[in-house]
Amino acid sequence: MAPNGQRRKRIGWAVVTLALLLVIAVLATVTLGDVVGRGGGELFTYRVRSGDVWVESVSRRDNAEQVAAWADGYLTLLAARFGVAKPGAVIRLLDNETRYAAFGRQNLPGFGGAMQFCYARSDGAVYGWWCPSERLTPRLQHELFHRLAHRTMPRLPLWLEEGTAVLVETLQAKDGKLAVSGPLVKRLDQAARLLDEHGLDKLTTLLDSPQATFIGPQGFDLYSLSYATAAALDSQDRLQTALRVGVAPVDGQTVLTFVSRAR
Ligand SMILES: [Zn+2]
Repeated sequence: MAPNGQRRKRIGWAVVTLALLLVIAVLATVTLGDVVGRGGGELFTYRVRSGDVWVESVSRRDNAEQVAAWADGYLTLLAARFGVAKPGAVIRLLDNETRYAAFGRQNLPGFGGAMQFCYARSDGAVYGWWCPSERLTPRLQHELFHRLAHRTMPRLPLWLEEGTAVLVETLQAKDGKLAVSGPLVKRLDQAARLLDEHGLDKLTTLLDSPQATFIGPQGFDLYSLSYATAAALDSQDRLQTALRVGVAPVDGQTVLTFVSRAR
């Protein structure tokens, strides 16, 4: 065969190989996308429902009904406290933290390994793992607020959503309503330290830090400051309005005064 013919043959094979690789890549993406799209939902074969809340689990748990009933009641009170309609919710629980982390990395967009429980905006479900109730309850309270915010509060800045979610960890039912059970002192201490270090006029700048800082090493700082600010607003009965309009005019002195009194 002439050299020209050989070159043409080689080019021909290269084109065929490239086309095959493209087909494989497309197939792989479609398959992967399918798994992500389902959120690994097929894994959670054990399902119980109470009112508007589903609890889904990988293996059968004796207290799943209890958790579903509690979550449904809590969500009702949470919606009432913030004056919004109650949404439905799905809570998916893995058997332990290791399996949760592996599942999250594979199935949940934007999942950070260091996260505790999370709310997945992609499928609207809360994800976590079965842990003792003293840890399970506040974590679910936090994530149920994210569910509520996602469905009923479209304009929230991230700090206001996270700060309120931490505040919700402290809300307990009393006489048919949710009331603050006690301040998270370590977080308030940290908020006071930050305000002292950066200056009261820097509150808004600090709160508006980019999303990544909620996950990185400064996570505790930002959660603490956001929580203190949301709690200060709540103590002045201004939180509900802030959540509705998505804006919270607030200054460092207000937060510091609240922190000093609450600790
Ligand atoms: Zn959160």
